[in-house]
Amino acid sequence: MSKGSTPVTKNEIVDVIIEDLTHEGAGVAKIDGYALFIPKALPGEQAKVKVIKTNKGYGFARLLEVTKRSEDRVDAPPCPIFDQCGGCQLQHLSYEGQLKQKQKQVRDVLERIGKITDVFIHPTLGMNDPWRYRNKAQVPFADREGGLIAGFYKERSHEIIDMDSCLIQHEENDKIVQAVREVASKLGIKGYNEERHQGTLRHVVARYGVNTGQLMVVLVTRSRELPNKKELIEAIQEKVPHVTSIVQNINTKRTNVIFGDETIVLAGEEYIYDTIGDVKFAISARSFYQVNPEQTKVLYDQALKYAGLTGAETVIDAYCGIGTISLFLAQQAKHVYGVEIVPEAISDAKRNAELNHMDNVDFAVGEAEKVIPWWYAQGIRADVIVVDPPRKGCDEALLDTILKMKPKRVVYVSCNPATLARDLRILEDGGYKTVEVQPVDMFPHTNHCEAVARIELL
Ligand code: SAH
Repeated sequence: MSKGSTPVTKNEIVDVIIEDLTHEGAGVAKIDGYALFIPKALPGEQAKVKVIKTNKGYGFARLLEVTKRSEDRVDAPPCPIFDQCGGCQLQHLSYEGQLKQKQKQVRDVLERIGKITDVFIHPTLGMNDPWRYRNKAQVPFADREGGLIAGFYKERSHEIIDMDSCLIQHEENDKIVQAVREVASKLGIKGYNEERHQGTLRHVVARYGVNTGQLMVVLVTRSRELPNKKELIEAIQEKVPHVTSIVQNINTKRTNVIFGDETIVLAGEEYIYDTIGDVKFAISARSFYQVNPEQTKVLYDQALKYAGLTGAETVIDAYCGIGTISLFLAQQAKHVYGVEIVPEAISDAKRNAELNHMDNVDFAVGEAEKVIPWWYAQGIRADVIVVDPPRKGCDEALLDTILKMKPKRVVYVSCNPATLARDLRILEDGGYKTVEVQPVDMFPHTNHCEAVARIELL
């Protein structure tokens, strides 16, 4: 067989040395400069691998045998479905190894994309017990012979695999999902069939306020109709007595987006409450709320520390969601302006300000890149700007306005080091200096990497 232009061919078995780990968690080996990506292989390891795909500049291989193992390898990842699920990518790497990897990822990307080298990147702040941390489960339901299954989509497929327990999920959420599966099966409620767009129950979303003990169950259904509704509610309440909110969300569309537009309260309250530090939040079915409450406190404390507030500052919180960071900052600022694109989130943010008797905050609905220039035109000047954008990072118009407004400090909370690096370059070219970056592990065992950067006006 001709090898073409690649040094290895499909199905070939080769011995390799793993040099690096991608941001997706795959090992990288180089053969005559040609990169092979090998899921579940770790840096420093030697391994026998089978080539499964070759592209022009890089290929993929399957790990057959580790011939020299990394000291950071975990031989038996604790989760029995780790290989099938795809929700976690790093359970085979020790937690210490994961934290180092995330610090390295931030350093590498800042250097490569942002050309930022003289900055202090702190060791990643991790969890003491990095399991059972998620406060929200979103579980797809389907029918099988004899009842319902509830689990996860097999990696890169629409096939649902039944699951009893997810080790990064809070036990309370596991219990709720199991309870709904059991009682709904008994009541003959049908799971959703994606292909035919039939059946009733699409997803169950469980949200737990870990600091208040309150629990919400969201039954996402294909139509308004929910057979045996009364019996279902009573059975859930009986099985999990501390459920404080049961709501139905109706999603009539053929889509893999979980929620539809309409939400109806079936029992209890429309909200659950949770606290982060001294601040209390009302959370509704569709509100964005950080999923790792313990680390959220760590992240927000870090953002607050980097903001360096004395009580005299005007602060802008861009991409503010339900106002979590805004209210955290408002405890130590003169005034905080929050802006967010989702109208419901801003209603929640206003309610949360009232709930905490904070009147030094204003919230606006809109795109940060439009609202902040408008504020600027109105004469509003911030001493500190905090941004916490989605993965795609900040819009350039927003960064331009920051450069015009010239706050003395910018605090950048990022869930994507690559866009962080890109945006830091723009700020640095405009007269700012990135002083330090603190990675915070919000998502242990997954490849997600969160970091907070402190950027000062020179
Ligand atoms: N700071 C919040 C939310 C961060 S998530 C927290 O910690 O909870 C990012 C938020 O940015 C989401 O709520 C999303 O709806 C919002 N968003 C996305 N694009 C936006 C834009 N162009 N302008 C303002 N907000 C935006």
